[in-house]
Amino acid sequence: MTCDTAREMIPLYAAGSLSEDDGAELIAHVVGCEVCQGDLVETMRLAREVRRAFAQIPGPARGTWISVAARTLGTPVLRVELGSELAGLSLDVGATKTGLPIRGSLSILGREVPVLRI
Ligand SMILES: [Zn+2]
Repeated sequence: MTCDTAREMIPLYAAGSLSEDDGAELIAHVVGCEVCQGDLVETMRLAREVRRAFAQIPGPARGTWISVAARTLGTPVLRVELGSELAGLSLDVGATKTGLPIRGSLSILGREVPVLRI
């Protein structure tokens, strides 16, 4: 593995989104490369600080999105959530007089971003 490839993979590793095999290749390179080792340590430290900073920002009250969905999508029927604390996907299905609207959102570091409305 080259240092350029390692530098591309380090942020993904720090975010926990690198495959196990790629992570093993990266670590094998980092063990023998002081420059990339320093980059990895610094990136991991920065990722931890960003997670802590985001955790301190108060988000919307629990249930906010459900009440918004109830007003815009009708009565909540189904909610599916996938992912981890870093990133995830949720789908809400509601029931109105005219149908079953669907709303999807991405969750990134605890913040929900609407991405789909059918
Ligand atoms: Zn290197």
